[in-house]
Amino acid sequence: PIGGADMPVAIALLNSYSGLAAAATGFVLDNNALIITGSLVGASGIILTQIMCKAMNRSLANVLTGGGTAATRGAAADDVYAGKVKSASAEEIAMVLDGARRVVIVPGYGLAVSQAQHTVRDLANLLESKGTEVEFAIHPVAGRMPGHMNVLLAEADISYDKLKEMDEINPSFQETDVAIVIGANDVVNPLARTDPSSPIAGMPILDVDKARTVVVIKRSLSPGFAGIPNPLFANDNTLMYFADGKKAVSDLIAAIKAL
Ligand code: NDP
Repeated sequence: PIGGADMPVAIALLNSYSGLAAAATGFVLDNNALIITGSLVGASGIILTQIMCKAMNRSLANVLTGGGTAATRGAAADDVYAGKVKSASAEEIAMVLDGARRVVIVPGYGLAVSQAQHTVRDLANLLESKGTEVEFAIHPVAGRMPGHMNVLLAEADISYDKLKEMDEINPSFQETDVAIVIGANDVVNPLARTDPSSPIAGMPILDVDKARTVVVIKRSLSPGFAGIPNPLFANDNTLMYFADGKKAVSDLIAAIKAL
């Protein structure tokens, strides 16, 4: 069994094996095109696997033999969330954003599901027009494929300079007024730091909990890919905004304009 956070690495490795299989077939059929393309796929898959292991602070052997998730789910969702989750409306969040000097937007799988990338760009532009500094924090395994968030945000013409890798942006969360998490869950789950029995234990995360206020946009308290609750949602400085990603961001834009 492969734990949630290890799945992207396993996928990259299997991709690379498909390339090696194609190259081997090329030798059998005496087909140079298959040998060359297969080798390219195989080599790039191995390189990607290694980069992702490094990003997750793990060795490949540890990822592949690290154990399953079934027995190590940790605390039940009820214990983590009971009575501690605060939900907010678009108007309340607009007021919080109104006084913010620096905002970091953290996209995740839910941003891709709701196709909110263009609306998110409009939100970033609106905040910038009011003098707020806006950056995007990109986790290496956010979404469901390597580079998923970079591709989505590039599609919306968001400048590459504003997309910051995890190591670069993490130290700046302490000076961030508002972190807006849109459809991300596992990549901002502090259990990775605190619970060694969690399926995402040891995975470096985006330290959004260190920002002054955290706004989390998602539809419910459902878990992400790893299937575990997220104590971030119950933190004192977290405001939950329960809605579809794209609709939530459009409503937020309308609320900011109405201030
Ligand atoms: P997660 O899978 O942890 O969480 C995604 C969240 O998005 C869910 O909790 C869901 O909550 C929310 N969501 C779904 N649809 C919508 C919507 N329409 N609007 C708003 N929110 C929505 O995503 P992350 O990006 O944080 O983490 C990626 C996970 O996927 C990691 O565990 C990673 O290991 C794994 N993975 C990554 C791969 C990669 O190559 N990048 C490949 C395979 C797996 P709700 O239902 O409440 O809305």
